[in-house]
Amino acid sequence: MPLDQAHLRRLIAAAAEQVIASAPELTALDQAIGDGDHGINMKRGFEAVLGKIDAIASQPPGDAFKTVGKTLVMTVGGASGPLYGSFFMAFGDAINRGKQLPEELAELFASGIEAVSARGRSKAGEKTMLDVLVPVLETLRAEAGRPDLMRRACVAASEAVEKTAPMLATKGRASYLGARSIGHIDPGARSSCVLVHAICTALENAP
Ligand code: ADP
Ligand code: MG
Repeated sequence: MPLDQAHLRRLIAAAAEQVIASAPELTALDQAIGDGDHGINMKRGFEAVLGKIDAIASQPPGDAFKTVGKTLVMTVGGASGPLYGSFFMAFGDAINRGKQLPEELAELFASGIEAVSARGRSKAGEKTMLDVLVPVLETLRAEAGRPDLMRRACVAASEAVEKTAPMLATKGRASYLGARSIGHIDPGARSSCVLVHAICTALENAP
């Protein structure tokens, strides 16, 4: 059954609130291997989303996610704005093409990842948000049908974040550090984990 309006609102609001709450941690991670603005960027974007949550939630689900994406593109400075913006716009487009949320979450994720990858000219293994998003997609596909799938996706996200620490950054600002990027968790990987936890927990608690 597709998400009803109240559930869609709760899902998007939870994602926004949890990103905003994690802003200090995201900024601290970005201070180590970037320019220290990831939390500030994400907070600005998701505060803008929360500011129009009623208008967003009154749209059909596909359009609602597209509006989230456009809002992030317009308000988030830095690399992460266009990347997360592309993710949510593609996620919404895939819903508008007939993919169902929550049933086809994996396919929606795949569309979002494709858009990030195209926009960022990046792939998994380069110490970016894709190093969480791709393992989560793999889990959603490999474990499809399990009653605890949403929990497993959350665990996959948390484990994937830790695995970015030993990676060498070859994309984004952290790549300027070369080998000095090793030993630090990627800030975008962490924000993706926060988003995955919020979205999967909201879907798990579907009415
Ligand atoms: P900026 O790097 O412009 O300061 P942010 O600090 O908001 O932007 O976001 C940094 C995060 O964006 C990184 O931690 C990384 O996860 C992600 N990122 C940067 N470049 C790319 C890319 N080409 N592909 C995927 N993710 C990227
Ligand atoms: Mg930054």
